[in-house]
Amino acid sequence: MAELSREQLLHTAGQPSFDRALDYLDRVSGRRLSQGRVHATVSGRARYRVQLTDTGHFFWSCECPWAMEGNCCKHVVAVGLVHLFDREHGEQAPQVPEVATHLRSLDHESLVGLLLAESERSPALALELEARAAVVSGDTGVLSSLFESALEVSEPVPQEQASYYARAVHTAVDTVRALEQSSREEDAQDLLEAVHACAEDAEDLVEDEEGEVAAALDRLHEIDTA
Ligand SMILES: [Zn+2]
Repeated sequence: MAELSREQLLHTAGQPSFDRALDYLDRVSGRRLSQGRVHATVSGRARYRVQLTDTGHFFWSCECPWAMEGNCCKHVVAVGLVHLFDREHGEQAPQVPEVATHLRSLDHESLVGLLLAESERSPALALELEARAAVVSGDTGVLSSLFESALEVSEPVPQEQASYYARAVHTAVDTVRALEQSSREEDAQDLLEAVHACAEDAEDLVEDEEGEVAAALDRLHEIDTA
């Protein structure tokens, strides 16, 4: 199988992206290894996170729009070239410790504290945890309110909030599924109707350059026919 090499980068990205990457070499920062992958950020007009394989079958990902369309981009090539150069010169990227191992070493209360603190900072995680708690405790009446506050749109929503919106739709879909799986069909149906009503205008009002919201709404609309 093809591994990371200059030839592989050129082959996958093509000459134009490969050439453009040469201007981006000094914009690669934060390079590190985690679970066999190279992670780094490439900054230009925007900052994009890039991942690619250090060893083994060549795999890459980048957050830029060109890469989202399935194209191996100049950011991936730039990170690959910097990584290869440093590796050949004996400068391996620092290794991120295994996060799962660290988490397993924590006691129950520390883990709960960590999640609660993080949910204070992350509305998406807070919504996910609140929805899970409501499903488990059977307080399903609160679910419609929870998702209304996350999904109701009456005015244009800027691109910066598209990811949060998309994730909230995914959480709503997961919650409907969880209710169905615990044989609460009626609750599932009520929630589904509430979510549909809230998200009705999302397609027109949420700015969605990368298609994240459209993909989430597709998943929502699939439930009806399932
Ligand atoms: Zn890119």
